[in-house]
Order: sequence, then structure tokens, then C-alpha cells
Amino acid sequence: PGVKISTTPFTEHIDYVRLSKPCATCGKCNAVCPVYDVFQSEDMSSRGWFEIVTAPGYEYLNSKRVVEACVNCKSCRTICPAGVDVSDLILQRRAEHPNKLAGAIFAWQGRPWLFEPFIKLMGRTQGLWDRPLPRKLLELGFAPVLRFLAPTAKLPADMVLPRLAPRLLRERHAELTEEQGHQGPVAYFHGCAANYFMDGVGDAVIAVLRKNGIEPVLPRQQCSGTPIETYGHLERVKTYARFNVASLSRYEKIVTGCASCTLSLKDYPKWLQGEERKKAEAVAGKVKHISEFLAGEGLKVRPTKPCPKTVTYHSSCHLRAAQKIFERKRAAIRDSGAQVVATSCPACMIQLENGLRGEVDVRHIAELLREAYE
Ligand code: SF4
Ligand code: SF4
Repeated sequence: PGVKISTTPFTEHIDYVRLSKPCATCGKCNAVCPVYDVFQSEDMSSRGWFEIVTAPGYEYLNSKRVVEACVNCKSCRTICPAGVDVSDLILQRRAEHPNKLAGAIFAWQGRPWLFEPFIKLMGRTQGLWDRPLPRKLLELGFAPVLRFLAPTAKLPADMVLPRLAPRLLRERHAELTEEQGHQGPVAYFHGCAANYFMDGVGDAVIAVLRKNGIEPVLPRQQCSGTPIETYGHLERVKTYARFNVASLSRYEKIVTGCASCTLSLKDYPKWLQGEERKKAEAVAGKVKHISEFLAGEGLKVRPTKPCPKTVTYHSSCHLRAAQKIFERKRAAIRDSGAQVVATSCPACMIQLENGLRGEVDVRHIAELLREAYE
């Protein structure tokens, strides 16, 4: 007592820059970050990335590996007790250097008269080119191009590709489209995957809604924006948000079949200002994934046919399955003894099918419900 161990005021040791940041360094986000799960290193983790992208001396060239590694699963945002959205901070940094090849692909996809004939042609001819030898040639041919997407991007010959649609969902259900004059209080925002892939999701969502007395409208729509935001093209995301908000505003209820689209539509207010933001908030408040919609209010007719198989449910982000942790996921699914793994997202289905390779059946929950009605 009475001995002064330092002549420096204690306030000089306080890191005011650190104190001014909202992150409390609790590490909860690391516990759910799939990249940290793989690398087990603070510089490849949500909490570490927060520090890096908010550092006063941040530079893209020094942090490129970090900024490009986040898979935008949003798990950190869901769990953070301080309300920090690390994924959003990373995406803002990524948007300072948007990926050019991805931008060209999104621009092409944004012109349906150019993009959709290509998808349908590939769908009609998939039996010819989706075979081992042509796929090997495609793998080799695409390798130099895909490097511009990401250093590790590949199209392996043994990757299970989704079946492309020779007739798009909107063509198969043309009588429900806004273009054909169909009207009603419930819109089905199918997104890109259900329209372009023959994955059964769009048909099942429509069938289940019909079983419950709803003839959904397929409104005019653009990509919800998730992949576009992931590659840093925020202006295009805003343009599509405006388009979709204008298109969806007139409906009382908006049902989706895709987890990523659901999140994206609910996030639209963050892109817009003033009156547009108010409209986006109104739309966001009406968006429900088919599972939430049926559980809450939409299930008028209970399915009666029991499912004869054991089903497990995959609830995590589709991109989580794309990482190296799939071996553990596969083991967990195998250990569960399930014959079917159900999920709520078409993108998750693609990743699960690639990881499980037919060991366990992969189905969207709307498909299982549809079967339970038949
Ligand atoms: S970002 Fe949130 S969850 Fe992550 S360490 Fe900081 S306070 Fe904790
Ligand atoms: S979005 Fe996912 S991958 Fe990115 S920092 Fe958050 S938890 Fe990690």
C-alpha cells in the first residue's frame, strides 16, 4: 500500500479504438463460423475478420485472402449478442473489389431472353454432355476461366450437377404467371434455382399450396440477390431489390421455397431509403418460407399418408456443406440412420447430393409434404 508501481496514468493503457468497436470479443461467432471450424485459426474466423476489416489500417491487398474466405452463411449475425453482422462488414469490403467474371455472369442472367434459351438448350442436351468424357473435357476447358471466379473454383467431372430444366418452372405453370394475367393474394417467389433446375422444389411448393386451397401467383421476379451480394455487386442487388419490391408489393402473402431467397427478401430494407425502404419493409414483413407459412397459417388440409422412411433434417447454410466439414456431416447423417435428409433450400440440396452421392436420399420438405398428400 502506498507504493506507486507506475508513473504512467492508467488511461494511457486503454485501447480507445478497441473500446469504440461494438464487438465484445466473446467468440460466440467463432463457434458457429464454418470457416473457423475448418481452419481453427483466429485469422480465419468471424471474430478475427471483424478485427481485420474494421482496423484503421485495413488494406484489401493485405487482407484479400480473409475478405474472400467468408462463405456468407450469416451464422455469425444470428448468434452475436452485440448485434454485430460480421458477414455484412466483410461483404462491404468485398464490394470495394467486385468479381468481374461473376459480374458478367450476373449481367447475362439478368437478360432472360439471352440466358434462358441457353439453360433450356443445356437442359435438353444434358444427357449428351453430362457424361464422364465430356465432363472431363468441360473440367479442363473451364479450369482457366473459373480461376477468375476464385483461385480454387473448379467444375470437377465427378461433381453431381443439378438437372437443368428443358422447360422452366414458369413455362410448366404458365397459367399461374403474372404475365398470363393470373391474380390472387398469395405470391410464390420461386427464385432462380426452382425455375432453372428440375429439382422438384417449385412443382412441390405449388402442389402443396394447391392442396391447401391456394392458387399462387408466380409474379415477375429477378434473382433475390444473395449470390450477387456474395460476389460484391451491390448496385445490381439494389436494382433487383427495387424490381422485386415493386413486383411483390401488391400481394398479401409472399411464399418462398428457398432459405437464401427468404433471407434476401427480408433484408431488402437495408438497401433502400425513404419511401422505397418503407415498401421494402412491408414486403419483408409478408415473406415466409413454405415451412413457416404452412406451420403458421397455411396448413388447411393435413397430409394423411405416413412417410415410410426415417427422415433427418439439415438446417444449416448450403455453403456450410460445401466446405471440408462435409465428412463430419455425412457421418452424422449416416449415424442418424435416416434414409432421407430433408432441407429447405435448393442450394443445400445440390451440396448435400454431392456429399452424400446417393447414400441417403435428399429431398426438399415441400416434396415430402407433396408425397404425404398423394
Ligand atoms: S462479433 Fe459478436 S459474437 Fe463475435 S466476438 Fe464480437 S460480440 Fe462476440
Ligand atoms: S458469414 Fe459465416 S463464414 Fe462468414 S464470418 Fe459469418 S459465420 Fe463465418
